[in-house]
Amino acid sequence: MKILIMGPPGAGKGTIAEMLQENFDVVHLSSGDILRDAIKENNPLGMKAKAFMEKGVLVPDEIIIEIMKEKINADAFVLDGFPRNLVQVKKLEDADIKIDIVLNLQVSEETVISRISGRRICAQCGKIYHLKNMPPKKEDICDVCNGKLYQREDDKPQTIKERLNTYREQTEELVKYYDEKNILENIDAGGNKETTYDKITGLEWLKKRKYKSKAGL
Ligand code: AMP
Repeated sequence: MKILIMGPPGAGKGTIAEMLQENFDVVHLSSGDILRDAIKENNPLGMKAKAFMEKGVLVPDEIIIEIMKEKINADAFVLDGFPRNLVQVKKLEDADIKIDIVLNLQVSEETVISRISGRRICAQCGKIYHLKNMPPKKEDICDVCNGKLYQREDDKPQTIKERLNTYREQTEELVKYYDEKNILENIDAGGNKETTYDKITGLEWLKKRKYKSKAGL
């Protein structure tokens, strides 16, 4: 099962992909997380990507492709954040990696801005919080591991707009591309994560698939 999850920044791709990984035998592959890990590890490709990420624009294709080609080796995955333009789509196809279904998470711009600006992340374990919708019990401290919460540099207001523009200008055309291939499912993701997740697990495509499910769904 090869799933691609799409949607603008703040649509909840990472959260939903984590829920799918928890309940089904799929690996969550987030290009953004992979890049952030590469930066933490002082990986030279990560260091080249850093300035682009901070500006909210796409990292050059040759860098992201080099990083992702090592990572996309599982039989069953949820790809999140890659591909982000048609050059990257072509790379996947050239490598004979065939996406079965594309989940397109749809949310209003207002929701996206509110979600991103309130997002906080644990520096230690990566758990995602939201100041209003999912606040930690203790201010700025992770409920799970007591790590300190931080705001992603590119979640700050000046960069959010740039990321949304980048999405509209370069990534949104993939929605049309996959729709024409008849593998696109539009999902209303404006509600809470459980509602969105239920819509996905209720899809006929997913119900018909016979694969090992940890949750017995
Ligand atoms: P994300 O966590 O998916 O919002 O990604 C954070 C940032 O990483 C983006 O704003 C881009 O700068 C960079 N990035 C992630 N995935 C890609 C990709 N497939 N192509 C180019 N840049 C990417």
